Amino acid sequence: MLFKRPLIIAGPCSIETREQTLATCRSIAKSGRVDVLRGGIWKPRTMPGGFEGVGEEGLPWLIEARQQTGLPVMIEVATVAHVEQALKAGIDMLWIGARTTVNPFSVQEIADALQGVDIPILIKNPMNPDLGLWVGAVERIRNSGNERIALIHRGFSGFAVSEYRNAPMWHLALEMRMRMPELPMICDPSHICGARELLSDVAQEAADLNYDGLIIESHINPDVALSDAQQQLTPEALDELLRSIIWREATTDHSDFANEIEQLRQQIDLYDDELFALLSRRMKVAEAMGEAKRRNGVTIFQPSRWDKIKQKFLAEAADLGLTKSFVAEVLDAIHVESIAHQNRVMNK
Ligand code: PEP
Ligand code: MN
Repeated sequence: MLFKRPLIIAGPCSIETREQTLATCRSIAKSGRVDVLRGGIWKPRTMPGGFEGVGEEGLPWLIEARQQTGLPVMIEVATVAHVEQALKAGIDMLWIGARTTVNPFSVQEIADALQGVDIPILIKNPMNPDLGLWVGAVERIRNSGNERIALIHRGFSGFAVSEYRNAPMWHLALEMRMRMPELPMICDPSHICGARELLSDVAQEAADLNYDGLIIESHINPDVALSDAQQQLTPEALDELLRSIIWREATTDHSDFANEIEQLRQQIDLYDDELFALLSRRMKVAEAMGEAKRRNGVTIFQPSRWDKIKQKFLAEAADLGLTKSFVAEVLDAIHVESIAHQNRVMNK
């Protein structure tokens, strides 16, 4: 295996001082649950004026942390100079941040600087939900001859008001897994959540989705951290969280389990077949409605009728054991498809 599973990475958002680095790393390592220490040396802040990292000066502090804990150390690189300084200092692993993955020029420069260097490199998803950029970043790094690559899912930024700092959009990370199944996928609950209360649910969700590890920010004194104070955990809270996560196996050779799952899968397949057969019949009715509307010169979209349908099912959602947001999404998808069918008939 390329990386141990689960691979647990932890450390401060930013390296701030030698004392903060060593105290945090020693305390994190004590639990024995962490495999790699992380720390930001150069901090890509969205807005100017924020703490932009201590820079090169902090590299020896991380090397000292490695000596004191025996754990490999990892930093973020965003430019050629960062890569050169990290390699010169003997840093063990690198990551590419979300603000860099969005920029093919930057990724290519990093890839060129890594030509012929064999160092594990973890690539975060881009800020925006564009899988092409993520795949492209992996391919650029791979083309530099580096095969020790893993992915970090840190959520996607957006305008939507949500409890999360960066919307997880799990389906996109899972789609990325399907496109690049050979790459380990690590979840970054810290940057998804932006708030420490939310971390453990997101971390467990990642474990349940068969992720290969976690990267979590931890600071010896989170409240005075110079970056991302709200989302950092004390080493003790980190240990508690890591202890509570249940890592399940993707599969088992237990024969009872295989039989049980096989039967349940048959049921699911049956329902899926029925669902789509019904949807197909529903669209045929929509087409007949389109015909009738065309003959009578009536518009396709009848807002009050649609609103009635929607309200009816939203009211029933709880009794059906479904969330309102799911019901709304399914109805919207059906509605869009229905209108498309009617449109086709209308303009025949
Ligand atoms: C980080 O991990 O400290 C960081 C800056 O993350 P991201 O690139 O996900 O915003
Ligand atoms: Mn951070």
